[in-house]
Amino acid sequence: MDYALIGKIEKAKMYATEPERIQFDNFSVRLSGDNESVHDVGYKEGDWQCDCQFFKTRGFCSHTMAMERVLGEMITQA
Ligand SMILES: [Zn+2]
Repeated sequence: MDYALIGKIEKAKMYATEPERIQFDNFSVRLSGDNESVHDVGYKEGDWQCDCQFFKTRGFCSHTMAMERVLGEMITQA
């Protein structure tokens, strides 16, 4: 029995239930929209990017808002 490993697994389980411990700095994702569209959504130190037309004029869109809902407190709210 590897007790050190058991301890690490228990800690991982605890961390996973406390997402407030996690802060994303940068990431990029592909989000499947309606009508078979796929959008590249990016996040870098508080700033969002999306390749859709709505984002170009407003600076946010359904894709960035969806990611905010998924990630919740794991990203810095502007
Ligand atoms: Zn978008």
